Amino acid sequence: MTERARPWNADPYQSGNSGQFLTALEALMLAGAHLHSGGRFADVGCGSGELAQAMATRNFEVVANDYSPSMVEATRQRCADLPVEASVQDAHELSLPENSFQVVHSSWMIHWLSDATTAVRAMARATTPGGLVVLQWSCGQKRADGFALRDVVNSVIARPAWQERLKDAPFATYQHPHDEVADLLRAEGLDVLHVETDVQAQEGNGDPEALRRGLKAAAFHTQAEALGDDADKFIDEVIHALLDSGALNPHNARVIARRPNVTQPAVRRFPLSVGHLEVSSVENLSPLMRRIRFRVDAPKLEPSQPAETITVIWPAEGADQIVLPEIGRWRFPANAGRQHTANLTIRSLDGDQLTADFFLHGEHGRMSRWAAAAKPGDRIGFGGSRVHWVPDPTADWVLFAGDETALPSIAAIAATLPAGQRAVAVIEVRDEAEKIDLGDVEVHWILRGDREPGVGDAIEQAVRGLEFPQGRAQVWGGGESSLIRSLRRHLVHERGLTRDQVCVLGYWNRPNRGESQ
Ligand SMILES: Cc1cc2nc3c(=O)[nH]c(=O)nc-3n(C[C@H](O)[C@H](O)[C@H](O)COP(=O)(O)OP(=O)(O)OC[C@H]3O[C@@H](n4cnc5c(N)ncnc54)[C@H](O)[C@@H]3O)c2cc1C
Repeated sequence: MTERARPWNADPYQSGNSGQFLTALEALMLAGAHLHSGGRFADVGCGSGELAQAMATRNFEVVANDYSPSMVEATRQRCADLPVEASVQDAHELSLPENSFQVVHSSWMIHWLSDATTAVRAMARATTPGGLVVLQWSCGQKRADGFALRDVVNSVIARPAWQERLKDAPFATYQHPHDEVADLLRAEGLDVLHVETDVQAQEGNGDPEALRRGLKAAAFHTQAEALGDDADKFIDEVIHALLDSGALNPHNARVIARRPNVTQPAVRRFPLSVGHLEVSSVENLSPLMRRIRFRVDAPKLEPSQPAETITVIWPAEGADQIVLPEIGRWRFPANAGRQHTANLTIRSLDGDQLTADFFLHGEHGRMSRWAAAAKPGDRIGFGGSRVHWVPDPTADWVLFAGDETALPSIAAIAATLPAGQRAVAVIEVRDEAEKIDLGDVEVHWILRGDREPGVGDAIEQAVRGLEFPQGRAQVWGGGESSLIRSLRRHLVHERGLTRDQVCVLGYWNRPNRGESQ
């Protein structure tokens, strides 16, 4: 039979466990859990509701549950006027609505579960794309490291003084190795961002009286209740036995995982929309940036995100026909002549009017040449559209980086950022005349002057020099391919961002870079 801990009593727990609340906050800060922007927050094993209260006052709608009716009642009272829905639930059979929470949190709970699989799976499935699972628990050591703590506690319980009195109050604590929990989360499609195996749970902070009080309220609450006035004596015996055998380490584990935010690009086939664009007007925004408005002559061009891209198609020299690809795959009829293609950002789409901005990088660029010569009535083929940017609801701030070719996408994305979201940009342009207004974005302009585009690492150096704001970043950018590769390496390997936080694209290739440097 599986042993189970008794439901908790909220009163001693509240007075003995402020450290547990603090570690929960610490884990959420570490996760960059978007603590100020709100969303939906699930607290599994909510205890007496301190965290539910803290998150509800930070604009989260909180769903809190606990095995113990007394804890749930304490949570309800504490959060009476807040958006907190507390209910009694046994996490062995945890059920949460799927794809519903920006943060699912559980601290110091799953070691009470004989089998944590159902709970961990339910927590993973409850996250939205970009959503976080933040888990902390004790006894998270690897299986090969054994479970000395349980063995020692059981040896104390087996002593004549306690055996009879504790026969109905077993030590029902279970080992859930951190690597196995991380694997479970991965199997549910989450990226594991952080694993820690020696979290200081601040029980007592070195004060023996506080340590005893904390253990009595949490780890040994079942035995404490059964022993009444003798509880302290029992707990002291346990502490001594653990110290003597070197088994006091609770192996507090912390795992933070995140559901990737890239579902849309993965499921969309390309191109779903195939057709023609007819130039309706042209306008030079600056000496090097030309805006062209097109009338879309194609069904189903329905971008869902800012800065989606299309691939434009036009006949090569000597050919005169635009031949379109098949819908759903980039394949052309056998009789198609030679054609040019290039990627282009949808700056905006309003009804059948598509706006795109073309960087005029001189006579050598084919698309650039086409754009420089374009006039109303000209037609170009296209297939589209591709999603590249999906906003990360858990991001605290956004970093943009790139050259002029990325300016259209940066401007399109910047215009859709939620009010108040911090955004920082590092953008290289030729000179003052090429700067554009990016609203509230804090832009660090790099003026290239006579230097050729795509030469030198000024963008990366400027990003290196930035002091990153606190919290979780989402990065977007584009530019010359080899410079962008180096920038990506810096962000991932030196700044420690995960790959799903960073979308920087090689927009164009500069052949023989070395010659001009
Ligand atoms: C997803 C995506 C979205 C893009 N969106 C836009 C957009 O909205 N607007 C836009 O202007 N560009 C955009 N680009 C970049 C654009 O597709 C390339 O700059 C383009 O392929 C250049 O095409 P081209 O036919 O003019 O030059 P190519 O014929 O491809 O290149 C000819 C020569 O020009 C050089 N060259 C090409 N681009 C540049 C450059 N930028 N600066 C200096 N030399 C260059 C090449 O090295 C080569 O030697 C995007 C690219 C990607 C991948």
